[in-house]
Amino acid sequence: MTAPSPAPQAGSRPLLNRRLAAFGTTIFAEMSALAVATGSLNLGQGFPDTDGPAEIAEAAARAIRTGHGNQYPPGPGVPELRTAIAAHQQRFYGLGYDPDTEVLVTAGATEAIAAALLALLEPGDEVIALEPYYDSYAACIAMAGATRVPVTLRPRDGAFRLDLDELRAAVTPRTRLLLLNTPHNPTGTVLTAAEMGAIAELAVERDLLVVTDEVYEHLVFAGAAHVPMASLPGMRDRTLTISSAGKTFSFTGWKVGWAVGSPALVSAVRSAKQFLTYVSSGPFQYAVAEALALPDAYYADFLAGMARKREILSAGLAAAGFEVYAPAGTYFITTDIAPLGETDGIDFCRRLPERCGLVAIPNAVFYDDKEAGRTHVRWAFCKKDEVLEEAAARLRRL
Ligand SMILES: *Cc1c(COP(=O)(O)O)cnc(C)c1O
Repeated sequence: MTAPSPAPQAGSRPLLNRRLAAFGTTIFAEMSALAVATGSLNLGQGFPDTDGPAEIAEAAARAIRTGHGNQYPPGPGVPELRTAIAAHQQRFYGLGYDPDTEVLVTAGATEAIAAALLALLEPGDEVIALEPYYDSYAACIAMAGATRVPVTLRPRDGAFRLDLDELRAAVTPRTRLLLLNTPHNPTGTVLTAAEMGAIAELAVERDLLVVTDEVYEHLVFAGAAHVPMASLPGMRDRTLTISSAGKTFSFTGWKVGWAVGSPALVSAVRSAKQFLTYVSSGPFQYAVAEALALPDAYYADFLAGMARKREILSAGLAAAGFEVYAPAGTYFITTDIAPLGETDGIDFCRRLPERCGLVAIPNAVFYDDKEAGRTHVRWAFCKKDEVLEEAAARLRRL
């Protein structure tokens, strides 16, 4: 083991600026390193252990071989992909977008989120985000100089739910934007049509922009349904919808994402995006255009496979004594460790690899209100069935 090197300094001033100093290293880096060091099964970071469709991988290889996207693609994305994204919104949600003025291709959903917040916020603006939140949200809001105002999803009847009164009370004259994520990582909550309708009414009434992160739009299990915010009355032109190929097609390393919205919103976001990456993932853009056009059977089989995996891991967690919050969407399960006599998820996750050879993520790191998530732990089930069966066997050692 080498000692950590001291934080670099220029004179007496820390090099890392105040906006970012609070964030440290993402929990995923720490836990994935722990998984490797201990030879544990990694149910922490949410990446699949099986690649997406072979014909889509082949399409990427073909694009490289035939010189498609090997040089800087157009700033907004290649036309084939922008057209495919617009067709996808029409096919699944009946929403029409102009591929030339209303679609922007980004380096994953991550860049779309960053560019949106950097473009749309002034310092001092408030952003309401549902907590627990995806870890890049807080950092990007901070980089934009804005203030995050969390509204906490709390367990009710076996799922994490939004308190609409709490949401309404969080809006102030400084609120500029609601940053939503449904299906929701890490809780697996899918906001209902009634909840989405109430949020839309609030956004119209208080004249708020809505940025929605819908990367799990195709991972919604039977009994729930994904309602795109942009489909609700008064919302089309105040909503920037963000998604990505990573989760839907199991190619998280390709980093092809997108944002769709009104020409004014998309052009604002493009202003920031052009100075972040400018462009990215050239050949992969052509392959994702083909992926989006895959027949309904692809999407149905993907969902059915994940539903089966959800059952394997849920059963293993329940048998080991965890309280399991059955996810309505995403490929994550949030559990409560309190029934095991545990009181601290961070401590539990740090000890888990040596106790039973598994890695999970403590939800507390996704909260401002650490108390609210203290005993919650997230498990990813986007892994081979046999890996999940083995994880279930290891859980019995606890
Ligand atoms: C994985 C994930 C992202 C990032 O998507 P990329 O396309 O890999 O950048 C964004 N939001 C949520 C909620 C995620 O889980």
